Amino acid sequence: MKIGILSESKVDEAAYKILVESVLGHPVDLFKDYWKRGGWSQAKKLVRPIILDLHYSGADGFVFVGDSDSTPPHIASHDQLDEVPEDCRLCEIRRLARSLIETLPARSGQPQLKVAVGIATPAIEAWLLSGLDANCTEAWFREEQARGRLSRQTRRNLKIRKYGSLEASAGIKLQRTLENAHRIARDIEQLEQRFQFGFGHLRNDLAQW
Ligand SMILES: [Zn+2]
Repeated sequence: MKIGILSESKVDEAAYKILVESVLGHPVDLFKDYWKRGGWSQAKKLVRPIILDLHYSGADGFVFVGDSDSTPPHIASHDQLDEVPEDCRLCEIRRLARSLIETLPARSGQPQLKVAVGIATPAIEAWLLSGLDANCTEAWFREEQARGRLSRQTRRNLKIRKYGSLEASAGIKLQRTLENAHRIARDIEQLEQRFQFGFGHLRNDLAQW
């Protein structure tokens, strides 16, 4: 199975690939590296050209995982709404991908491109630290946000806890990320309990593949 993953770096891409393979239960090949260099608006802009590239190149699937940063996390009630709720990044990407794929021509001898979307609250480091800290859950971060206590510093602290220091070398960052990705991928049920909506959505999408 050939897939494309949009990520911020080789390190994040490797972590997402480990999680995707764990959910699917088989290895995947990365079709091409798709890296975003800017913030959310750039990530959003890249979705359309990447889907077109994957569709016309005969790839099987596209995985999008973003950070919620300071936006409200996705919740189950959004799935019942006709309109995309304001500021929900997951709903926004899901709508964008679905509406584009609906317009694409059928591929001869190959099914429609599959898409899986997840959002890490507040950032991928929280998933990677899951199980090491009782507070590292989507619900806890949502409460912190409701109290106005989810800040840029919260996300910096997650990085520091993950790497030991913000100045850690690229080698250490890769090593820590891979260790943690393999650790959380061994217990997908627990990761979904802790990140019910953002990771749960990604898992549900992948289950349809
Ligand atoms: Zn949503």
